[in-house]
Amino acid sequence: MTIQENLQAINQRIAAACARAGRNPAEVRLVAVSKTKPAAMIDEAAAAGQQLFGESYAQEFSAKAEEVSSAVEWHFIGGLQTNKVKYLRSKVSLIHSVDRLSLAREIDRQWGKLGRRVDVLLQVNLGGEESKSGTEAAELEELARQVARLPNLRIRGLMTLPPWCDDPEEVRPFFRQLHQLAEGLAKLAIPGVEMRELSMGMSHDFEVAVEEGATLVRVGTAIFGERQRAGG
Ligand SMILES: *Cc1c(COP(=O)(O)O)cnc(C)c1O
Repeated sequence: MTIQENLQAINQRIAAACARAGRNPAEVRLVAVSKTKPAAMIDEAAAAGQQLFGESYAQEFSAKAEEVSSAVEWHFIGGLQTNKVKYLRSKVSLIHSVDRLSLAREIDRQWGKLGRRVDVLLQVNLGGEESKSGTEAAELEELARQVARLPNLRIRGLMTLPPWCDDPEEVRPFFRQLHQLAEGLAKLAIPGVEMRELSMGMSHDFEVAVEEGATLVRVGTAIFGERQRAGG
């Protein structure tokens, strides 16, 4: 299967999941996760019509973005150390992984230097796994209130990376919970906080995520194939 064929198949599966859930497919955007993959594959996907790409490793991304010749949109989706935020500045339109105030402050500071604002999602750890980043659901409201006060970033929704389950149906409750958390936050009407995006679902469970309300699905392996190595 070529990248083009993979993209076509995934877009069809997203459309079918939307149909099952009575959703408009235009509400769901596919984030092609290209971490560890070469610029040439990103250009190939772009030539096949894919506009939006997600990266997880700040330095790898920063170097690779220069090599990609197509005009594409970038999201940053990975765990982010505060001292790496500078590599993303002016390059990404959405950061999915804001999980603590110190990180939000540094993003605010870096985008402040540009005199621009960046959109962010708050990442929530729903599985209670120590190894995963994300704020606890119980601390989400407080984090949202604090981050919302920073002038150079806007909260646009929530993201989660649920525990790995062989059966995607086992992940459904986590997706549903993220959706409910977003609805709860929206009701608080905190200035600077909008709950328009739900970033959830990966290669093996994106259809369930779409059925549960995802607006951004982050798919890597099913587009580009297995990853050989961890990035840097
Ligand atoms: C790597 C990654 C993905 C993509 O995972 P696949 O299983 O390859 O689709 C999605 N989200 C995040 C946060 C990732 O780091």
